[in-house]
Amino acid sequence: MILIKYGELTTKGDNRKVFINTLYKNIFEKIKKYDAKIIKEYSRMYIEYQDVFEDEIISVLKNTFGIHAFNIVFKTHTNSEMICDLVLKKLKEYNFKTFKVVSKRRDKSFPISSMDFNRVIASYILKNIPNIKVDVHNPDIYIHIEIDKDDTYVYFSEIKGLGGYPVGVQGKGLLMLSGGIDSPVAGYLALKRGLKIDAIYFEALPHTSLNARDKVISLAKELLKYSSSFNLYVVPITKLQEEIYHKINSDYMITILRRMMYRISEEIAKKHDSLILINGESIGQVASQTLDSMCVINEVVKIPVVRPVACYDKLEIIDLAKKINTYDISILPYEDCCTIFVPKHPVIKPRLDKCINYESKIDYISLIKEAIDNTIVIKINDESDFDDLL
Ligand code: ATP
Ligand code: MG
Repeated sequence: MILIKYGELTTKGDNRKVFINTLYKNIFEKIKKYDAKIIKEYSRMYIEYQDVFEDEIISVLKNTFGIHAFNIVFKTHTNSEMICDLVLKKLKEYNFKTFKVVSKRRDKSFPISSMDFNRVIASYILKNIPNIKVDVHNPDIYIHIEIDKDDTYVYFSEIKGLGGYPVGVQGKGLLMLSGGIDSPVAGYLALKRGLKIDAIYFEALPHTSLNARDKVISLAKELLKYSSSFNLYVVPITKLQEEIYHKINSDYMITILRRMMYRISEEIAKKHDSLILINGESIGQVASQTLDSMCVINEVVKIPVVRPVACYDKLEIIDLAKKINTYDISILPYEDCCTIFVPKHPVIKPRLDKCINYESKIDYISLIKEAIDNTIVIKINDESDFDDLL
C-alpha cells in the first residue's frame, strides 16, 4: 500500500471535502489503468496496488499537486508479535547502522504506550540484527509504526510530494504559452495553486513555422504531467501582425501587438470559462515588461492577469524550467511571433494616447474577429499527438 499525506489542504477547514475529492479524482484519472484501489479518509489516503505497477504509480504521485508526502506502507494486524515480525522482515532489505522507532497510537485501546512500544520494537531489532544501534537525533533510518484499532501500518522512507493544491480546486485560467522559458514555468506554478489551465498560442504562419507550434505542443505535454487533459488554442495572427508592421511606428509595434494578444486572450478566456489570464511576464525582463509597458498593455482588458514569475530572477525561472523538464524544449531555436519583425528600439515607456492613436490606423476589431474565428483547438491529452478538433 501507499499512504498519502495531504499537502496544504489540511488547513482548509470547510473546503477540505472538495480538496480531498479533487485529489482523489486527479489520482484516480492517472492510475486507473493500473487497476489500483484508492481509499480516501479525512486525514490521509491509501492506494492498494499490484507490485508490478509500483514505479508507475510512484511517478504519478510525485507529479500530483496536493500531496505533502507519501510512503510505501506495509500492513499487518494490530498485534505486537506480528508487528515485530513485519518490521524485522522488511528492515532486512535496508542497509543501515543506526535507527529510530517512531510509533503512534491512533487508537488508544492498544495497551502499550507509544514510548514503551518504541522500546519493545527497538530491543527486538537490536536482538536480531547485529552491529546496529539506536540514534534518536540523526538515524540512518526511521521506522514509523502507526497503530490503529485493527490494523497497523509500518513504513520506513518518506517520499516528498510537490505540495500545493489539487489541480481543479480553484477554477480555470488561460495560460498564454509561447515557446519561451518563462511561460511553461508560469503554467506550472498556476497548476500548483490548484488552477486548471487551458493554453493559448499565437502564431504567424509562414513567418513562424510549424516546428515552432510543435515546440509549444511539446511544452504543453510536459504540463500535462501535472494536469488532466486541456485545450491549446492556436490563434493565427499573421494578418494582424502584418498590418501592425506596415502601419505602426516600429518602436510601438511590440506594445501594440501585445495589446492585441491580450484582447484576443480575454475573448478566448471568456468563451471557454477561464476566469483569469496567466502569463510568463517578468518585471523588467524586456522592454514590453517594464511597469510602464505592463500598465499600457494591461489596460485593454478587464480580466485579471496573473504573472506567477513576475518577481523571479531569470536564473530562478531557468532552475524551475530544468526541474520540470521544459528548459531543453524551450531553448530549441524556433522563432516566435514576438521575435519576428523585432524593432531596434522598442519603447520602454509607452504612452497610452499614442497607442490609441496608432491603433486607429488599423481595423483591429475585424482582424481580431478573424483571428478568433480561425483559431484551431488542439487537445492536449495522453492518447493523441496532434489531434486537431477544430
Ligand atoms: P517566455 O516568457 O515564455 O520565456 P519570452 O520571454 O520570449 O518567452 P515574451 O515575449 O517576453 O516571451 O512574452 C511574455 C509573455 O507573453 C510570455 O511569457 C507568454 O506568456 C506571452 N506570450 C508571448 N508570446 C506569445 C505567443 N506567441 N503566444 C502566447 N503567448 C505569448
Ligand atoms: Mg519572458
